[in-house]
Amino acid sequence: MPSSSTRDYYEILGVGRDASADRIKSAYRKLALKYHPDRNPGDREAEERFKEAAEAYAVLSDEGKRARYDRFGREAAGGFPPEGFDPTVFGDFSDILGDLFGLGGSFGARARRGGPEPGADLRYDLSIAFEEAAFGATRKLEIPRLETCASCSGSGAAPGSQPATCRTCGGRGQIRFAQGFFTVARTCPQCRGEGRTISDPCPACHGEGRVEQRRTLEVRIPAGVDTGARLRLTGEGEHGRRGGRTGDLYVVLEVEAHQRYHREGAHVLTVEEIGYAQAALGAEIEVETLHGKEKLAIPGGTRPGQQFKLKGQGIARLGASGKGDHVVEVAVRIPKPSELSDEQRALLARLGQLEGRAPSKSEKKLLARFKDLFAGD
Ligand SMILES: [Zn+2]
Ligand SMILES: [Zn+2]
Repeated sequence: MPSSSTRDYYEILGVGRDASADRIKSAYRKLALKYHPDRNPGDREAEERFKEAAEAYAVLSDEGKRARYDRFGREAAGGFPPEGFDPTVFGDFSDILGDLFGLGGSFGARARRGGPEPGADLRYDLSIAFEEAAFGATRKLEIPRLETCASCSGSGAAPGSQPATCRTCGGRGQIRFAQGFFTVARTCPQCRGEGRTISDPCPACHGEGRVEQRRTLEVRIPAGVDTGARLRLTGEGEHGRRGGRTGDLYVVLEVEAHQRYHREGAHVLTVEEIGYAQAALGAEIEVETLHGKEKLAIPGGTRPGQQFKLKGQGIARLGASGKGDHVVEVAVRIPKPSELSDEQRALLARLGQLEGRAPSKSEKKLLARFKDLFAGD
């Protein structure tokens, strides 16, 4: 993505047409530091200025290109960027800046190449039962992680030997090569950026300095956790390298569904079926909550889907006191004709009659058979 600017290169750098190479370099350095994307995150204007300055410097710092630019203008100087070089990849740019100006990588994420490298954080997905989430639990987990190799104390060199400074990169971890007029830094292929090589690798870790170990951890799951909760176990992640800090372990919970209990935060919901006579006349029912059986009075005229609360019979509130509620949603059981006894059919036929429904032939027989039921006292 070349710069869209058509401004004069000298103007961009703020130097005269007769500026010395040193003057151009220091002018560019000033601009590069000011507009560097690492210092102006998300600032497109700064990004443009940065690219523009880089383009101007690329031409004016090269004697041949500068001469052609002076005589024939921009097109003749050879475009920017050089082939295969993307100025939007600022990781590379940071390296170039560091190389050009000896900033030692004060920009960007690769600043600590060859230095301490922190151990990775680990994630463990743990599925727990509904009741474990509600009441809390202790679980034993077997976690594999990379730990500092005990045989070589993490150096990667066989006992009695030492890692040597990499000869390819002289311990820098990077090699530089010219790409057109630009010097590009790449991770050293010999030592893969470590800056040192091991001639006699530790047999226990094959020179890696770390080995995989399985350990058993006891994890305490607090009451009230829900799906997505993360438990952080500080220092239970991977060991770092070259003295880098140990990572953390995150246990990410998934609460299994329950056959009867539905959960919404700290509240528990169950669907309780009642008969239509109970719905119409009211009734006292027994509800099985997480904490035992509870009686619930259903008033007459309750409709299907109506909800009732048993206060404080839900799940512990995580990080707070008290519990949520147990919500009962009423469902009304409507039996199929085959599920009815003759007596029930007779009673319903009679009820239907009172509501203006004419009984069928067979129902009339039933009504006659059970007429005592309706005679009253
Ligand atoms: Zn080792
Ligand atoms: Zn190297």
